[in-house]
Amino acid sequence: MRAIPLAIGLLILANPLVAQGQRHNKVIKLMGSRFEITAIHEDAQTAWDGINAAIAEITRIEKLISSWDPNSQTSKINQNAGVSAVKVDRELFELISRAIRISNLTDGAFDISYASMDRIWKFDGSMATMPKADVVKKAASKIDYKNIELVDSNTTVYLKEKGMKIGFGAIGKGYAAQKAKEVMITLGIENGVVNAAGDLAAWGRQENGEHFKVGIADPKNKEHIMSWLDVNNGAIVTSGDYERYVMLDGKRYAHIIDPRTGYPTTGIKSVTIICPNPELADALATSVFILGKKQGIELINQLYGIECLIVTDEDKILISNNLELSDKS
Ligand code: ADP
Ligand code: MG
Repeated sequence: MRAIPLAIGLLILANPLVAQGQRHNKVIKLMGSRFEITAIHEDAQTAWDGINAAIAEITRIEKLISSWDPNSQTSKINQNAGVSAVKVDRELFELISRAIRISNLTDGAFDISYASMDRIWKFDGSMATMPKADVVKKAASKIDYKNIELVDSNTTVYLKEKGMKIGFGAIGKGYAAQKAKEVMITLGIENGVVNAAGDLAAWGRQENGEHFKVGIADPKNKEHIMSWLDVNNGAIVTSGDYERYVMLDGKRYAHIIDPRTGYPTTGIKSVTIICPNPELADALATSVFILGKKQGIELINQLYGIECLIVTDEDKILISNNLELSDKS
């Protein structure tokens, strides 16, 4: 048995005893994160063709959605905030449309225009003092998904206010995992996993014929798995990057911004979402962080086929109504 630790203390278990094909996998840094791409196939060449195609696909998506690369379409949108509409690829247009649908669903908790706060909150350790309240307030006033204007007929995007900015940090990895999975399936990989730094999409089965499983680590004792989740052609996504936070005045701030206040969220350590689609799971994990434990679980309980598990700052575990945890691996 082999256990691979995921970003936030989840473990994926692989049992390589019975072969339906061999497991081939590659760990690689993409989109600034650790990706692990796994293909199970009897033919090594097919497996590696699939893995390499997935890497190419993720690299392509990164180019499209990156807000660091000044030449990306996303950066062009940001550079033209308050100036003009920008024509983009249908793919990016649709991604933005779906992100706005999640904003509607979460009453604005999820909002890709959170990115106007990028200049103020830094989660790379470079921040020593609390930003001034009026500076936070001013930047937060630029966050509003309703000011993202989309024109479907010519796929243009316009950020109506100067100083507005969009970023895909909360949905991009999930989208990339979904697309990489699709590319691999097209190339004949019927069993595999794309793990984008804890945003995991799995399909088919392990070599031993069992579903892929993700272990939930006990927050009080990370070495101990307290329960197992079957990933049956779906996604398990966890938000709560333990490395990206800032300590100010003795308080721990996560790298997720509450658009209503402009301040990072507090109270939750991690959110895991289980649902068929990794992109939706990624966006909802971030949303639950912002909505908080009570409202967050209420939202998930209203959504069919979507479950969640929350670890609070006090290491308490909360789960949605229909989530079944099992202590068997
Ligand atoms: P993780 O990086 O731990 O997987 P998420 O998937 O929740 O976490 O993504 C967090 C990222 O989402 C942040 O680094 C930032 O880029 C972006 N983000 C922060 N606040 C919001 C928000 N309110 N709505 C949408 N995206 C956000
Ligand atoms: Mg997310």
